Amino acid sequence: MARCPDCGGEVKYKAPFMVCMDCGLSFRRDEFEKMEKKIKQELKTAVGLSEEEKQREDREKKRSYYRWLMKREDED
Ligand SMILES: [Zn+2]
Repeated sequence: MARCPDCGGEVKYKAPFMVCMDCGLSFRRDEFEKMEKKIKQELKTAVGLSEEEKQREDREKKRSYYRWLMKREDED
């Protein structure tokens, strides 16, 4: 079953449009498929990034802390 890219509601095919039963959004079938693909990709990217970003940020924080520590020791 197709899902509305906007609200996630049920989408029915009413030639020549796909119509969302929840919010009434309507679009052509090819547009819908394009949108669906794009949204799936964006979701994947968002999920993948957030976890990676978090770990990267953690490492960056530790690194800059050590750098700051070393610098202070140098100065003393
Ligand atoms: Zn909708």
